[in-house]
Amino acid sequence: MPAPFLVIPQPQKIELLQGDGLSFGKLAVLEKSGEFNRPVMGPILSQLTESFHNGSGKLTLEIDKTGMAPASHEGYVLTIIKGHAEIIASGEAGLFYGCQTLEQLLEDARDFQTPIPACKITDAPAIPYRSVQIDIKHHLDHMNVYYESIDRLARYKINAVIFEVEDKLRFQRQPVVAAPQSISIDEMAALTRYARERHIEVTPLVQGLGHATFILKHEHYAHLRELQHNRWAFCPLDEGTYDVLFDMYRDAMDATPGSRYLHIGGDEIGNIGLCPRCKPTADEKGELSLNLYWLKRVCEFAGENGRVAIFWDDMPLKAAGVYTSTWNSDVDLEQATKDWESGRPILEQLIDGFPKNCVYNRWNYSMARQPGNIFALDWYRDNGLKTMIATAAQTGGCLFPIDDRDLGIASHGIAAIRSFNQLAAEKEVDGMFCTAWDDHSPHLETFWRGFIASAEFSWSPEGRTLDEYDNAYLQKEYGVSFPDYTNLYGMLRKGAAFWEKALNWEGTRMDLENALFDLPGLAHWMPPKDPDAPVKTDFSDRLIELPDLQGPGSWSKTYGKRLEEAVTILDEYKYTSTTMDSLYHCSTKNRYHWELYSVMNDFQVMAPRLLLALKQCDVKDRAQQLAGAEKLRNTLTEFDRAWENLQIVYGKTRFVSYPSSYVPDRYFHFASQREDLTWMIQVEELFHQMINEWMDNNQLR
Ligand SMILES: [Zn+2]
Repeated sequence: MPAPFLVIPQPQKIELLQGDGLSFGKLAVLEKSGEFNRPVMGPILSQLTESFHNGSGKLTLEIDKTGMAPASHEGYVLTIIKGHAEIIASGEAGLFYGCQTLEQLLEDARDFQTPIPACKITDAPAIPYRSVQIDIKHHLDHMNVYYESIDRLARYKINAVIFEVEDKLRFQRQPVVAAPQSISIDEMAALTRYARERHIEVTPLVQGLGHATFILKHEHYAHLRELQHNRWAFCPLDEGTYDVLFDMYRDAMDATPGSRYLHIGGDEIGNIGLCPRCKPTADEKGELSLNLYWLKRVCEFAGENGRVAIFWDDMPLKAAGVYTSTWNSDVDLEQATKDWESGRPILEQLIDGFPKNCVYNRWNYSMARQPGNIFALDWYRDNGLKTMIATAAQTGGCLFPIDDRDLGIASHGIAAIRSFNQLAAEKEVDGMFCTAWDDHSPHLETFWRGFIASAEFSWSPEGRTLDEYDNAYLQKEYGVSFPDYTNLYGMLRKGAAFWEKALNWEGTRMDLENALFDLPGLAHWMPPKDPDAPVKTDFSDRLIELPDLQGPGSWSKTYGKRLEEAVTILDEYKYTSTTMDSLYHCSTKNRYHWELYSVMNDFQVMAPRLLLALKQCDVKDRAQQLAGAEKLRNTLTEFDRAWENLQIVYGKTRFVSYPSSYVPDRYFHFASQREDLTWMIQVEELFHQMINEWMDNNQLR
């Protein structure tokens, strides 16, 4: 479309026609041709009446009988000419999407006071199942946020939401699992119906064999643990496991009436094959046989209940020795080819034992074109197995999601989303799932750039460049144009990355929970080396030390590089804070986004400020030391204010603390360490206390 018109996702084909187009405010009438329900429409089109006014602009909706519309039931042809619009589609979803496109064009016509040019848009998605994750593992947003999210996703033609409910669904058949603040089954069912009217299918994700601490933390279920001291995994050969899981699945299906799928998780299973019941089987037939036994049982259950199971594909790929090749950048083409040459026969053998009526969820968050990942998609296709790719709206961050795009094969954020969707479309994969993990519980609003990118590129993989996408995203979401956005975002993310590690002597604050449990890296699902060892509860030894004023200057030297970075970030903060302030004021919609980003930015900048105040103290001169101490005290006060503001703004859309009756989970995840938002500032709590003591000891008051 000629400027200023933008539609997300980019339509597949646009032809400009001769003649007048359509001005804002000229459509008045809706005419339906055929028997179907009026689609749910956006704020502009929902104004149209179905009574006839002669001479006014008319929107005609028609179910195709002539083969003119794309074959996909989601495809449509939208024709705009001489003050009228017409949408022809082979299904109701197509009519709905045609209306969404027209709504976006009318918004631009209104905002830019420019008529939509006469045109014909022929459109259909590249990937049929396009889903995003709402992960409520460690927090809940206000219920209206989920309803608004459905509207926002539908606008961009996302057609499924995978709700990872964990303990936030009020399970009726296993009420012990349900958290006190959980969403009732009826409420979730109402949301599911609301979503269906907007052509979005809600799929529940209930983790099973592993990732089960939210169930097995309760003493009530302790007898079902594979290992008594480990709440991670169920015993796969205990029939009680299936009684509990099937009850939970039944509740989850009741909460999502009419949906086709049931996501059963199934990743990162460890800690099995160890109990007296399972060990002989594991010794004789291998641990995989236990995984498979569980998988068969739950897939059968899903099938009997009219659902298709979706599960993470770690299991078969690991067993065939090809898993690493799908994500590890150290595995080059030559190595991946070798791995797959030896792995394919194993997979072929294994796969006979795998259920067929299910979907294999293939994740890659950074390197879609990794040779092993390509081989995996090819292998699924050649063997007629259903696959769904999984991208990520964020990976690992707590504040601003990571977004890099210049690292060749490895990139994160929207570049990775684009790349994996392109690959999936080439390989004719059926589904896309944009994950939004709650491990470090980032604010839901921070996922939207990724969510909308996944909508864009799963519908139209080759349509836009990343810069073109950002430009369209800013116009559609906030009604602003801002060419320096990538640079701004890069600075915000740099500040967040600095905050994550600023006060630790090594690693990031997110590594600390691993330190707490003495679990390095991703070994969290493996059996603890010494189950009787006490859980570590103090990690002050992981933080940097404070300046030694007996030897002034040496601290500043040790942390010289960090302090230089702090100066850069404070300098960039001047730009980021004023720019976001102006974006807030210029935006015509969703100002909350900039309000949130501003408080996050104000919060994270406290870390470099604190370090530079310490540097000012780290000198010989007593007067200078006292001036530094003054600055230090001010920074601590400012921190309290920034932290308070962050909680207030978070609290506008999410519940920031759990009810007191909640049974703590203490997952290895960062966000499950506390029952309120203070898990975010565990490092500050300790470090600020250290500073106060240090000021006392050095008479800096
Ligand atoms: Zn067992």
